[in-house]
Amino acid sequence: SDLIRPDADPNERAAESALRPTSLAEFEGQPRVSDQLGLVLEAARHREATADHVLLSGPPGLGKTTLAMIIAAEMAAPIRISSGPAIQHAGDLAAILSGLVEGEVFFLDEIHRMSRPAEEMLYLAMEDFRVDVVVGKGPGATAIPIEIPPFTLVGATTRAGLLPGPLRDRFGFTAQLDFYDTTALEHILTRSAGLLGARLRAEGAAEIARRSRGTPRIANRLLRRVRDYAQVRADGVITRAVAARALELYEVDEIGLDRLDRAVLDAVCRRFGGGPVGLSTIAVSVGEERETVEEVAEPFLVRKGYLMRTPRGRVATPAAWRHLGLAPPAGSSS
Ligand code: ATP
Repeated sequence: SDLIRPDADPNERAAESALRPTSLAEFEGQPRVSDQLGLVLEAARHREATADHVLLSGPPGLGKTTLAMIIAAEMAAPIRISSGPAIQHAGDLAAILSGLVEGEVFFLDEIHRMSRPAEEMLYLAMEDFRVDVVVGKGPGATAIPIEIPPFTLVGATTRAGLLPGPLRDRFGFTAQLDFYDTTALEHILTRSAGLLGARLRAEGAAEIARRSRGTPRIANRLLRRVRDYAQVRADGVITRAVAARALELYEVDEIGLDRLDRAVLDAVCRRFGGGPVGLSTIAVSVGEERETVEEVAEPFLVRKGYLMRTPRGRVATPAAWRHLGLAPPAGSSS
């Protein structure tokens, strides 16, 4: 199932925006990021200046887009949204930048996937609020400087390390988003339930939070599915038992593993004695593409400490064996 994928699903965009917090006060979790960003914005407001450029990094679904919109709201500024892959040519970027109004927030998602010429144009724009548009070709080409109004660039990337140093250095503030603890996820779920008009009990929230992989997007998605279940198969109230039964039906287990995750662990442990076993062999064994196993299942299994990547292949840890209800083989490490 795609229930536990952290990536945005275009079909759920409307459902997601309905649940987006619109101020820093409503933004749950990430206390350090919230505090620091709050200070940056307040100082800018105090000076009646445009806020410094902000870089947000972290895995998908943790709230980068949400924070960009909050920055705009807190600065009472409009927001323009684009993404690295959407900007093929420097000209595309020049068009966007020259259309910005003073103080506007320009949210550039997947900023690490911009083309090189666009990237260079962005350096200049961030630093001098200017772009050089080249007209003509060959020896007759000239660069015409165009002034752009001061704006705030909010860049988002899955890993800050993917950005070239010079680009990273031009951000005044960098925030690294981390996975959420269950308490923060419970708060998010409670707030979302209120907005959805769903009757969510505290222990129901705890049950969903535990299975949400530290990711608000997944938490909200599971909540919508559990709500369906509660309405159709129960009396509408999401108790612990209702949440657990619903998520069992959707094959999301107590710690947020789905069918594919479990199939991978099962293959490594039962069929290959705990490994080491190569990625391609695992993929064939679970009947999936190698990329799907590597990009969808593995990161969370590794983060959970169930799977290790070694030069000779994937190795299951004792925790993985135990999660499957099996005894780890004698002499297995960690
Ligand atoms: P991607 O990069 O994949 O687009 P993202 O990091 O931009 O992901 P968002 O779209 O901002 O993620 O958030 C996903 C969903 O989770 C949204 O519905 C948003 O409302 C919710 N969400 C994220 N962070 C929080 C938070 N701190 N408090 C409440 N809701 C949150």
